[in-house]
Amino acid sequence: MTIKGQATVVKHTGSHYLLSELPQWNLFPAVLRGKIRLKGSTATNPVAVGDIVNYEADVPEDAPAGGLNGYVTLENAAVITSVEPRKNYIIRKSTNLSRQSHIIAANLDRAFIIATIDYPEIKLPFLDRLLVTCEVYNVPVTIVLNKVDLYRESHKEMLEAFHEIYEGAGYPVMEVSALTGEGIEALRDACKGNVSLFSGVSGVGKSSLIKALDPSLDPRVGEISDAHLQGKHTTTFYEMYALSSGGFIVDTPGLRGFGLVDLKKEEIALYFPEMLKASEGCRFTPCTHTHEPGCAVKEAVEAGEISYDRYSSYLGMLDEEGKYR
Ligand code: GDP
Ligand code: ZN
Repeated sequence: MTIKGQATVVKHTGSHYLLSELPQWNLFPAVLRGKIRLKGSTATNPVAVGDIVNYEADVPEDAPAGGLNGYVTLENAAVITSVEPRKNYIIRKSTNLSRQSHIIAANLDRAFIIATIDYPEIKLPFLDRLLVTCEVYNVPVTIVLNKVDLYRESHKEMLEAFHEIYEGAGYPVMEVSALTGEGIEALRDACKGNVSLFSGVSGVGKSSLIKALDPSLDPRVGEISDAHLQGKHTTTFYEMYALSSGGFIVDTPGLRGFGLVDLKKEEIALYFPEMLKASEGCRFTPCTHTHEPGCAVKEAVEAGEISYDRYSSYLGMLDEEGKYR
């Protein structure tokens, strides 16, 4: 008998997809029927992790609804017939200059950006670029400062300033340690009921954190073969994991940053929430907040109401505009 249903893509292996009817975690394989093209999309992958898809499957008469695990195998894989509209998605350019893009994940409830004040030292322009990208794609962000066991005392003032700047801009900031377990329960709670993206530069402890959240997960398996592929072609396959405490996470191995897409110079400041707010007082619209007289953003920076670091990240992005389109 042929059944129809709706499920979420949790993995793409190249030859097929794995689907599950979330919040159940019952994986079954699926393939694409013919060509599914999304209108106006230049993405190299029409279906991404997190996509909600409609499928059809031929199953034995006694198969239960939902739990297709075991009834749908690679031999009678389900067929993806269409993709539901996405509430959001995060994409990456194949290269900075390329027009082609790759959808990393769709339908994200939140992105957790993992960072460390030190070990490795934080690169604020890079963090700010990630934040802008998440704003562009409409993904709410929580910043997770890992390894606080290493720098809470030695970098007390920086830590305080960090909270002030980023919480002031509207981003929750959590302090955790994958090593001591501090803050892990709070992070688990924040993941419950959500599909979350986990992102961060290598070395910040993203893998350790995922393991601390759920010891049955080991995102580093396969790391070597992934590293092997880098630079040759960019088909990194992202994957969704189920946390035993509830919620789903999409890990982004080897992801240094996602390129900004179609952002014009005058648009960049719209994605710095604190600048957007201050810009209501600018004399000119649009205002690039650089040379214009009566610029309320510049005044706020001078008054210390907007962080100079954030402003200089913004200037850096204005300079680089064009490289990411
Ligand atoms: P990833 O590259 O972001 O996945 O980072 P890893 O999880 O591989 O961690 C990088 C290094 O930082 C490893 O040596 C970890 O043991 C260490 N590490 C991770 N989390 C913590 C932490 O909370 N505190 C301390 N002191 N070290 C950590
Ligand atoms: Zn201005």
